[in-house]
Order: sequence, then C-alpha cells, then structure tokens
Amino acid sequence: IQQILLNDRPKGMPSSDTFKTVSAELPAPVEGEVLVKPVYFSVDPYLRGRMQDEKSYIPPFKIQEPIESGGVAAVVESKDTRFREGDLVMPSNGKNFFPWATACIFSGDHLRKIDSSIPPTYYLGVMGMPGLTAYFGLMDIGKPKAGETVVISGAAGAVGLVTGQIAKIQGCRVVGIAGGAEKVQMLTDEFNFDAAIDYKNNPDMTAAIGAACPNGVDIYYDNVGGEISDAVMYHLNPFARIPVCGQIALYNSTEIPMGPRVQPTLIKFSVLMQGFTIGNYAARYQEGIKQLGEWVKTGKIKFTETIVEGFDQLPTALLGLFSGKNSGKMIVKV
Ligand code: NDP
Repeated sequence: IQQILLNDRPKGMPSSDTFKTVSAELPAPVEGEVLVKPVYFSVDPYLRGRMQDEKSYIPPFKIQEPIESGGVAAVVESKDTRFREGDLVMPSNGKNFFPWATACIFSGDHLRKIDSSIPPTYYLGVMGMPGLTAYFGLMDIGKPKAGETVVISGAAGAVGLVTGQIAKIQGCRVVGIAGGAEKVQMLTDEFNFDAAIDYKNNPDMTAAIGAACPNGVDIYYDNVGGEISDAVMYHLNPFARIPVCGQIALYNSTEIPMGPRVQPTLIKFSVLMQGFTIGNYAARYQEGIKQLGEWVKTGKIKFTETIVEGFDQLPTALLGLFSGKNSGKMIVKV
C-alpha cells in the first residue's frame, strides 16, 4: 500500500518537502478487524493547523507518520460480522479520520456503515462536518432573525455555501465574499445569495461591503479573518454577532499581521464575537444532521463539490484550499 506521511513541519505555506509518499505492507485483519480502502478523502483547512506542534483542540500530526483526515472507505475484507465486502463506512465511536493510505485496518468498533440514500461525499460536506459547522455556528452563535443582514466570508466554500443558504431560510439578506468573478456569480445565480463581493478584484473592500449592506451588518460569519474581516468591522450594527469559524487567510502566516484594533467597535456597538469548534456541538450532531437532511431533501439547500482524482493528489488538493481552487467541498477521490 501507499501512505503519505508528514515529512517535516512547514514554515509558511506547505511545500513538496512537507509530504513524503512511502510504500508499506499491511498484515491480514484478525477477528474484529476490517480491511478498508478509502474511496473519498476530505481535505480541510484545519489540517494545516495539525502540521504545527502547538497546543490546540486536536493533537498535532506526528512527523514521519501518516497524515489523516475524514473520509469514506469501502470494506475489502471483514473479520467483523457487522460489515461485508463492499459496504461504505466512515470512522466512528471516537475515531474521526482515516490515515492517508490506500488501505488500512480498522477495528469494527470504530466504523459505521453509511446510508446509501444520499451521495457518499455528502457525508464529508453538506451533511458532514462542514454542514454542521455552518448550522451550529450560524444558528447558535449568530442567532439570525428575519430581515437581518448576514455577511459571510469564504462564502463559496464548503462551510460558506451552507451558511448562506441557512441564513436565507431564516429570512435574512445574505451577502457573500469570495475570490473571483465565477465564484461570486455562482453565489448569486445558483445559491440564492442577495449579493456577492469578489475580494480579489475589489481594491476597496470597506466601500464594497458598505454598498452591499445598506442597512449595516447584523451577523458576520467569519471563515477567513485578515483584511476581509477588518473591512467588515466598519459596518457592524449594534448587537451584531460574529461567529468566528475560521481564519484561513492567516493559517500560513509566519507572523500574524496587525489589523485595526476592533475593541472600540465591539464596545460601542455591543458586538458579540465568539470563536468555536464544531466539536463543542458533538452532543447535538443528530439535531443538525436531521435538519440539514430535511433541507437537502426538500431542495432548500443545494451543494457543490470539487473532486480531485488520485491518491497522490492529496497534498495538491489540500494546498489548493489556500488558493481557492475549490467551489464547495474539496474532496479527493482515490
Ligand atoms: P473552504 O471550502 O471554504 O475552502 C477554503 C476557501 O478559503 C478557499 O476556497 C478560498 O476561497 C478561501 N481562502 C483561501 N485563502 C484565503 C485568503 N487568504 N483570504 C480569503 N479567502 C481565502 O473550506 P471549509 O469550508 O472547509 O472551511 C472554511 C473555514 O472554516 C476555514 O477557515 C476553516 O478552517 C473553518 N472551519 C472551522 C471549523 C470549526 O469547527 N470552527 C470547522 C470547519 C471549517 P476563495 O476562492 O473565495 O478565496
């Protein structure tokens, strides 16, 4: 089998030195074990954080060990009566990830079969971690009310697309920020956003946000941080809420740049700014999955994916997140 290891901890943007592909052999599965072949891997921005040896909500990857991420795998050989060859499975019961390997052995206790009534990749996107992040971050921290204005950065990505559509379902005016003319057109034409701003071709983001939000901003769902967030700060309404979901603009920074000091704005306008990780909502995942499932089934939420083919493309696909190569969920098909 092939495995992709963390070769070295990157400084700044990861490079080809960050990853190493090696061959390995697997033993045969013993009683209670299942041999699986990952079919789809999720690549996600937080994987960059796990390459760093620092205190976090999740331990760092170990050097010279396989990187791991979410995924859907097919059972190849099972020594657990609950699974049969061909079943599609995901990690479960305290396990969330598959190693970046073309096959691996898992205890049957740490696998669950997925329901084939929805596309398997949806478990990595709209019905999985990104969808739940959109749902809980917006509903629990953002607390949207009909008529309010919601601004979403990283709007054309996995979390952003779902967040925008949930905000529309709640009756809000929704403004997305994304990179490139195609992405902003996709947001308004296909995903029902009221307006969208192309930050890559907009020299004055503060003015652009002001123009797109004539009534100010009540919720800023932040996926990116940095200068885009600085620009939104000037338009916050009294009692605005800011779910701080991600700061992808800063994940490869070797020094964190200083933006405008936000505290005076937060005080003057009684703004709530709260970071979160989706794990905070583990006890409520079923609620989120049920609600997202209904919206997907009734067509109220649509979704798109960027599927990159080939196990060896995992590093490239991961790096592609940092230059916006994806629309919707970035997935690697092995
Ligand atoms: P996306 O599908 O949104 O992919 C990342 C996107 O970020 C890219 O497509 C790109 O879009 C945008 N981007 C990359 N670099 C920059 C930059 N320098 N400035 C502005 N935009 C940039 O990823 P996810 O939906 O999986 O994640 C979105 C955010 O949510 C990330 O910050 C992630 O870390 C966070 N997250 C947080 C979770 C939590 O529990 N708190 C859980 C899941 C995700 P574009 O072309 O528009 O630039």
